[in-house]
Amino acid sequence: MLKDDYIYFKIDKTKHIALIAHDGKKKELVAWVQRHKEELSHHVLCGTGTTARIITEETGLPVKAYNSGPLGGDQQIGAKIVEGKVDFCVFLWDPLESQPHDPDVKALLRIAVVYDIPIANNLATADFLLASSYMNTEYNRKVENFHATVTDRVKQFAEDKQ
Ligand code: PGA
Repeated sequence: MLKDDYIYFKIDKTKHIALIAHDGKKKELVAWVQRHKEELSHHVLCGTGTTARIITEETGLPVKAYNSGPLGGDQQIGAKIVEGKVDFCVFLWDPLESQPHDPDVKALLRIAVVYDIPIANNLATADFLLASSYMNTEYNRKVENFHATVTDRVKQFAEDKQ
């Protein structure tokens, strides 16, 4: 592995947290946010349309709302992860219901792994994440060096062309 195969992005002490819950999981997420309201109030929150609105109405916490999940909200949050503007996620997807936007759900889960952001998909993991000492410090997440990858691939293309 070369030294520049990976780059590191800092997750600040203040996390940029996306909150998403499928319909069957919204009550659980609202109760979780209520339980951790004080801690979450120190971070910047956003979420898919319906989830964000419900959390704001039920808890009073400000949650920036993107589109509703089935209308592209998961993709918007995925794009924010790529841009480095979301670096922490609690995504309670429902394992017992099929979703019309299943490809978007998979895409969001995948991009969270590619960008090495903490993502909780159930309440126990969400509790463990919030209890982590990393909540009060910076953390360097490790991401493939896409600049180097693109440069290599462009070079490879030019070589193959000859
Ligand atoms: P919603 O979207 O918050 O608008 O319900 C969540 C989802 O289905 O991804």
